Amino acid sequence: MASIDALADRLSTYLSPDQVNLVRRAYYYAEQAHDGQRRRSGEAYVTHPLAVASILADMHMDHQSLMAAMLHDVIEDTGIPKDALSGQFGATVAELVDGVSKLTQMDFQSKAEAQAENFQKMAMAMARDIRVILVKLADRLHNMRTLEVLSGEKRRRIAKETLEIYAPIANRLGMHSVFAEFEDLGFKAMHPMRAERIKRAVKRARGNRREIVGKIQESLANCLSQEGLPGEVKGREKHLYSIYQKMRGKRRAFNEIMDVYAFRIIVDKVDTCYRVLGAVHSLYKPFPGRFKDYIAIPKANGYQSLHTTLFGMHGVPIEIQIRTREMEEMANHGIAAHWLYKSSDEANPRGTHERARQWVKGVLELQQRAGNSLEFIENVKIDLFPDEVYVFTPKGRIMELPKGSTAVDFAYAVHTDVGNSCIACRINRRLAPLSEALQSGQTVEIVTAPGARPNPAWLNFVVTGKARTHIRHSLKQQRRSESVSLGERLLNKALAGFDSHLERIAAERTAAVLAEYQLAHLDDLLEDIGLGNRMAYVVARRLLAESLDATAEQLPGHDGPLAIRGTEGLVISYAKCCTPIPGDPIVGHLSAGKGMVIHLDNCRNISEFRHNPDKCIPLSWAKDVSGEFNVELRVELEHQRGLIALLATAVASADGNIEKISMDERDGRISVVQLVVSVHDRVHLARVIKRLRTIKGVSHITRLRA
Ligand code: MN
Repeated sequence: MASIDALADRLSTYLSPDQVNLVRRAYYYAEQAHDGQRRRSGEAYVTHPLAVASILADMHMDHQSLMAAMLHDVIEDTGIPKDALSGQFGATVAELVDGVSKLTQMDFQSKAEAQAENFQKMAMAMARDIRVILVKLADRLHNMRTLEVLSGEKRRRIAKETLEIYAPIANRLGMHSVFAEFEDLGFKAMHPMRAERIKRAVKRARGNRREIVGKIQESLANCLSQEGLPGEVKGREKHLYSIYQKMRGKRRAFNEIMDVYAFRIIVDKVDTCYRVLGAVHSLYKPFPGRFKDYIAIPKANGYQSLHTTLFGMHGVPIEIQIRTREMEEMANHGIAAHWLYKSSDEANPRGTHERARQWVKGVLELQQRAGNSLEFIENVKIDLFPDEVYVFTPKGRIMELPKGSTAVDFAYAVHTDVGNSCIACRINRRLAPLSEALQSGQTVEIVTAPGARPNPAWLNFVVTGKARTHIRHSLKQQRRSESVSLGERLLNKALAGFDSHLERIAAERTAAVLAEYQLAHLDDLLEDIGLGNRMAYVVARRLLAESLDATAEQLPGHDGPLAIRGTEGLVISYAKCCTPIPGDPIVGHLSAGKGMVIHLDNCRNISEFRHNPDKCIPLSWAKDVSGEFNVELRVELEHQRGLIALLATAVASADGNIEKISMDERDGRISVVQLVVSVHDRVHLARVIKRLRTIKGVSHITRLRA
């Protein structure tokens, strides 16, 4: 069993006696703090931080990382505050421990949310000190190595999290040995049977292959020595999980994967790499298109090597990696290799740390990113969750949404009511269009208004099913209630023509008519009328059938026009051809299923059915009509500097609002400007026109209609 003395011995090979003593002190502190606590295995708790520190010692991490490793569970598990650690061991170590604790607190309820949260916390930790992540990875590695003692469910949860989060991060940081161990341990915990089967198959294959591997290795080694090139030839095997993934992902048979013979040649310097490449290419024929120069162009995680594939004897494919010892260390340990590698600036304790940061920076530059850690984490996330974006609520809650989601999707994800009453949004505290696609890491705030309703146009840009369903549902409800109330008004108007009213019709009579139409509720009938599917006049006659003799005519005078209030909603729309505004003589055109479109009385588009009572009904404007109505104006005026500003000022000073403006003609002297102005009614329009006339050089103003 490992002891602090054994660890101290190992540490003294690369740390000063003072530093080793500091690590010892941290160990004794942790031992006391965790006194009485035991691991699931029954061992004293302190064996865990000791093992974590030992993993970091293998990477030759500095004394502060080792101290943090010793203390990493102290804040979380013993309630000792950060300040106390800071007083005992200095601010840096306390910060490291705090950072690791924050990563540990990610014991999450809702998986997706907390995963994103992890990344964010990790990002923050990273921004301060990369060593936090290395300590956390070592912590996780030890927990994975001792996973058997946990219950099945917990074991799988930790294994899954390791595969989904920690393994990719280790990979991102270039730490291949940690990455491969995470994957194999995670694989074993998730799928023990499959892991065992593959392990056995690999063992069998190894036996069968021994002879041919030996032959190839020998011929490669001979080739190097003949050319006088120093280098070590090693056989190479894929780790279990990568074999498993290849079998699953690429649907390849085990034998097919194992049929490839892989070797690595480690040499002294870069120049030798290329000379070795030349030598092996003359020994065996290279596979066209398979040569990769990752020395000249390193991978995103900093990995460097030459890769080539050869046709060996009898045509067996041989994969070869050629790299220097330093590249080999980098490939195995990634960022941690900077501690492992003793360099000339050993005297400077900050040196290694600085170089590690430089390395991260280099990786980020390789990824063509600005170089802040949040974006780095963003990349990790993009690799892991390619189809999701993570955004924050103003309170810091994380919402997971499909890629392309907008603020409206976000609003419905927060709550249906928020979606339904949403009117605007702020993205990162700046007002933004509701249709803008959200990006990971943004904070989204929804502005709601009581009584606001979903806009049909939202259906053009929402991506989530939830938003779509709720918008549709809400519009349907809205349209139905509006159709019902319009239908009721139309029916009562028709009934008034016979000196009657819906309230005065006997219930039995209504029921009889509904049965005749095969409708269940009165509202269904009213909705039909409002939507223009049934004529109010005909329905009124049916309802009154008994009391009317066949020749009864509607009473003249009682059949006054229906008054439009401007609040009817979706069932009433204003014709684009003639843009009627309150005060204009109007007529309603009922089109089946669409409700009523309001036209000017003399609009050419309705002239053919203007007097057909089935299709057109007389309308008037209510006294208290509300809303804003667009009209189009054509203004001819002498060209002058700043005339758009003049027009805008004139319209604004009459409380009008310009919705659209375009300059039609300009022969240098006369300009023709088309304006769409929103006004309340004709009186208001007259005021706007009067103001426009006061502009110098205005010759004509016309209101445009089809
Ligand atoms: Mn731990």
